[in-house]
Amino acid sequence: MNFKSILSLVLFVASLPLFGQENYKTVSKVDSTKIYTGGKPYEVKTFTQKFKGKKPKKVILMIGDGMGTSQIFAGLTANGGHLFLDNFKKVGFAKTQSSNKYITDSAAGGTALSTGQKTYNGAIGVNTDTIAIKTILEMAEDHGFATGLVSTSAITHATPASFIAHQGSRGSYEDIAADFLKTDIDVFIGGGYKHFAERKDKRDLIGELKQKGYLFLRDMDEIAKVKSGKLAALTADEHNEVIPKRKMNLPLSTKTALTILNQNKKGFFIMVEGSQIDWGAHQNNTGYVVKEMLDFDQTIGEALEFAANDRETLIVVTADHETGGMALMDGNMKTGMVKGAYTSGDHTATMVPVFAYGPGAENFTGIMENTDIAKKLMNLLGF
Ligand code: MG
Ligand code: ZN
Repeated sequence: MNFKSILSLVLFVASLPLFGQENYKTVSKVDSTKIYTGGKPYEVKTFTQKFKGKKPKKVILMIGDGMGTSQIFAGLTANGGHLFLDNFKKVGFAKTQSSNKYITDSAAGGTALSTGQKTYNGAIGVNTDTIAIKTILEMAEDHGFATGLVSTSAITHATPASFIAHQGSRGSYEDIAADFLKTDIDVFIGGGYKHFAERKDKRDLIGELKQKGYLFLRDMDEIAKVKSGKLAALTADEHNEVIPKRKMNLPLSTKTALTILNQNKKGFFIMVEGSQIDWGAHQNNTGYVVKEMLDFDQTIGEALEFAANDRETLIVVTADHETGGMALMDGNMKTGMVKGAYTSGDHTATMVPVFAYGPGAENFTGIMENTDIAKKLMNLLGF
């Protein structure tokens, strides 16, 4: 075996889905889960479309993992015909293909959105030669901006990891956790405690974070009280639970992170992920998809509340890929019932929507590459 075949074998084994942090990929065979029977809708506010200037000082990038148009429309139907996404007047589509596959994974998809470069499935913040590439979050840090990451998965999982870590394989969770210490990220809130605290190399990353000046918290009520300083919040040993069981609250975590980051007068960059829309779709479980979609949309509502008041903040909402090949076969805008159907237990290749609100939003219309989203954001922020 030559080096290349050993490397591809290693990458293949690392990408095997059915162990450890990837166990959400088990497809549910229960047919009843393909119908969401409806719930109590929340009120959707309308926000101002008047902004200061053409360039943002602050960017909130929101990634709905696996969120295609069917996932969005399922949520819209379930919420009685409206979502906070209605406030986004500039809409486009992104092509999600990775450097080596027609169908991307969240690592290559996240890296495209964080660096503006296409890479291979499984890559975390590295290029096709596994060389580290600077991410938009690291560029923001270099320019004196505040930075943050919020996710309902482990904070070490592929999507958030792509913004802060540089690893050849998405499964290197402990190495990804160690990469957080190489940065000065101001706020991160998500799961993944064990990758910081219970490590093969016996390093105590929690102690190291505290030494670097971070307030370390695990409890949502405590997290929500923080207004300034550096915050490391790990709300689950591994992933946060499924909604409504999870203790971590994504809208509240996002609101808290925005308050902290806004102390920096230069500006900030934050990535917020609704991780589990993908997992519901992997399981072909429409109820799971809808509940996570609505949680993510209410998080978008928190971002809008901040941005509408601030008027110098650009929000971009997109996905890394679609999951499940989801279609909607029936629904009722009055009761909120949605019936989903699926062509896959994995990701699909179709384009994903891009929604933009705030100064610079007009740059995000039409069909673009996922890498263009990162390039446009870097350009608007002057990186
Ligand atoms: Mg993800
Ligand atoms: Zn997935």
